[in-house]
Amino acid sequence: MIKLRVSGIAKESVVDGPGFRLAVFTQGCPRHCPGCHNPDLIPARGGREMTPEEVLDMIGKNITPLTAGITFSGGDPLMQAEALNAVLRRVREELPQLNIWVYTGYVYEEVKDLPALEYVDVLVDGPYVEGERDISLPFRGSANQRIIHLSRDA
Ligand code: SF4
Repeated sequence: MIKLRVSGIAKESVVDGPGFRLAVFTQGCPRHCPGCHNPDLIPARGGREMTPEEVLDMIGKNITPLTAGITFSGGDPLMQAEALNAVLRRVREELPQLNIWVYTGYVYEEVKDLPALEYVDVLVDGPYVEGERDISLPFRGSANQRIIHLSRDA
């Protein structure tokens, strides 16, 4: 059975997209960006493997009427593209009121054909580049990263 390796969640994040968001952090990232904001999430081992139904259940238990959306960050959620696709499909089916943001270290052009992208409203792409660090930028750490709106509602 397909499973997503999850490190943890933040219930009311205001830094991973607009509004109060439930952030789900996946475990594992193929890069080692100097200055990585979440170095504990780089190893592909650790965290907990969860089925799409378990992730959906966790999300359902932790959202509130104030939750504006859900964000998948990490680590790199697209390192587990197939499992993420299965999770996002279930989120779309059961919690269509939540808009979906995904952070990835890949650039959009590398991942644009992945099935998971069909369910993503906003993709924040590209690795963190310390030389381009800019703390004035909303929702990202370095100027090379782009906030890409993939759906009309995003
Ligand atoms: S892509 Fe993100 S999570 Fe991965 S090493 Fe770079 S900053 Fe860290």
